[in-house]
Amino acid sequence: MSVRLKTKLSLGLIFLFIVILSFGVLGLFYINKLSNEGRLVLQNNHESLVYCNRMLQALENIRTRKDAMSDFEENLKKQQGNVTEVGEKEATDDLAKNFTELQANPADTSNYADIRRAVYTIQDLNEMAIFRKNGQAQHTAENAKGVLTIIFTVLTLVAFTFIFNLPGIISDPIRKLSEGIREIAGKNYTKRIYLKQDDEFGELANAFNIMAGKLDEYESSNLAKVKFEKSRIETIINQMRDGIIGLDEKRNILFLNAVSEKLLGLREADITGKYAPDVALTNDLVRTLLQDDPGKKELKIFADNKESYFSKDVLDVTNNQTLIGQVIVLRNITPFHELNEAKTNFIATVSHELKTPISSIKMSARLLTDSRVGSLNGEQQELIRSITDDANRLLNITGELLNMSQVETGKIQLKLQPADPATILEQAMQAVQFQAQQRQIQIHTALGEGLPLILADVEKTSWVLINFLTNAIKYSPERSAVDVTIFKKDNQVEFLVKDQGNGIEEKYLPRIFEKYFKVPGTHDRIGTGLGLSISKEFIEAQGGHIWVNSRLGEGSQFGFGFAAA
Ligand code: ADP
Repeated sequence: MSVRLKTKLSLGLIFLFIVILSFGVLGLFYINKLSNEGRLVLQNNHESLVYCNRMLQALENIRTRKDAMSDFEENLKKQQGNVTEVGEKEATDDLAKNFTELQANPADTSNYADIRRAVYTIQDLNEMAIFRKNGQAQHTAENAKGVLTIIFTVLTLVAFTFIFNLPGIISDPIRKLSEGIREIAGKNYTKRIYLKQDDEFGELANAFNIMAGKLDEYESSNLAKVKFEKSRIETIINQMRDGIIGLDEKRNILFLNAVSEKLLGLREADITGKYAPDVALTNDLVRTLLQDDPGKKELKIFADNKESYFSKDVLDVTNNQTLIGQVIVLRNITPFHELNEAKTNFIATVSHELKTPISSIKMSARLLTDSRVGSLNGEQQELIRSITDDANRLLNITGELLNMSQVETGKIQLKLQPADPATILEQAMQAVQFQAQQRQIQIHTALGEGLPLILADVEKTSWVLINFLTNAIKYSPERSAVDVTIFKKDNQVEFLVKDQGNGIEEKYLPRIFEKYFKVPGTHDRIGTGLGLSISKEFIEAQGGHIWVNSRLGEGSQFGFGFAAA
């Protein structure tokens, strides 16, 4: 049977009320009884003893005092009105009879003894009654003690069980409920609370269980939806033709799709959850992928029994501006690469094939200017100069295109040998002399003292210096000056070309060494935008470094440097 919590508390309080009430009533009852018994002793017996004593005194004084007789009579009357014990009436009647006789003949002392005996009898009877009643009162007190002790013991036991059980009845379910709520807050929706009691707490536990059940249902339906979406995304990622690798914010591997499994030669199941740099220890490709080298975006990977080219993109995945992971995308760019290669080969072939006819045009033009062939008028000479100029430009362009195709196919052939920087400078100065003269530009050279030899390809390095100087001449106003300085800095030999041209806007500087890049607005119909990119490749292939320093309106400084040999 279920008892409501409210009823339990009410019953407990009623019980306590009854305890207090019964203790009070019983206590009052016994106190009342004891006081009644005491009063009776006083009234019934003690008073009779007082009358008897007075009568005995009066009897002693009958012959000497006149009022003794009436004293005796008065007390006898009071005694006659206070007969309470068995046998007391007979003794009192006997006393009255003897006293009447004494009154009739006061001089006769013969019945004094009878009177005294009768008084003593009354005294004895009352004294015995006092003893008896005292015994009775003690008995009542003992009874009260016994009854109250028993009741006290029983009630104490009951109160103790209340003390031990009542807080538990309230606190146990509250503890269980708060534990359950904490679990739910921690998303453990399988938590249920089982309470034996069927009271308000039981109802609360039931309501809690219903709520947890609903939450569980909601969670699992959501989970199913999330799982479905996850598998859909996984399928999409798996079927993509690019390699995709997911890392979490601590660089642990989250997933690999089928393409990247094949490329890396790893199985997703074997490495998910592993720390990527640990995997890189045994896998070169993973190591390359993890390297943060923005310049090296193209990777050559042997896959599908052939060399394939992949571009690497690292995308940061953020949530509320905090990094939660990275996705590495490997895009297969082999077809583009093949097309590019075909284009480079085509350019190389065409440039190579054009070189001979252009050279022969140049040769023919030069022959035409020879007076032995015939004299030319001014207009014809102007035409031939223009043909020679254009042929030179064409040779320049074909030369640059050839160089570029060498760079692109990775076929730069270097003849590295200890070289004197002065030789390189000399070669370059000779090559640009004519151009400089045409624009009336002064080239000042400054060669540092005690320059060490450098380990370099003289041809290619001169080519770079020529390119710097040609640019400086092209992009400077006529009659300005260009400074070439070669100096030693730490263990480096640095080449610096400084012009007084217009300079380059800061935003274009990072792109200046890119292939085909020309600063927008540069009016130069013959520029290819290849010179600086080829220069960069040439210098870096030799282990040197190249740089630019420029500001709009302040001229430009282009430089490169090598370690001393
Ligand atoms: P180009 O054949 O066009 O000169 P480069 O690769 O040598 O190709 O140069 C790329 C671009 O850089 C040029 O088109 C030009 O706009 C800019 N540039 C190069 N050198 C200088 C310079 N000394 N002063 C100003 N601009 C320059």
